[in-house]
Amino acid sequence: MVATLIAMALTATATIMVFGLALILLEKYHEKRKMKQETHHNEAVWVNTRMEPFRKEQCMCLSCAKMKPGESDHCKHAAQFYKICCEANCALIMTRCREWEKRER
Ligand code: SF4
Repeated sequence: MVATLIAMALTATATIMVFGLALILLEKYHEKRKMKQETHHNEAVWVNTRMEPFRKEQCMCLSCAKMKPGESDHCKHAAQFYKICCEANCALIMTRCREWEKRER
């Protein structure tokens, strides 16, 4: 009888520990994204504060010779992405493109 109660108590403790660990891991998973509300273009938007600093540094379009806003041969894909960003007040990072061309400076 005592052995059964001890076994049940150990099982309950183990179950609680597993759920507790799962909750901690879930919290850390969401914490990695660090979403924060900010105002951009006079509107409140959610920002992934971990990714935002990389956007200007890593977006392929910003180092591409075909990125020529205002010119007739400006990249049509970049223009489409820019249109989406303006309409949705969002920011995108280009991480893959078959037409990327190194900008010479
Ligand atoms: S070619 Fe690709 S990387 Fe270059 S501006 Fe256009 S979409 Fe961006």
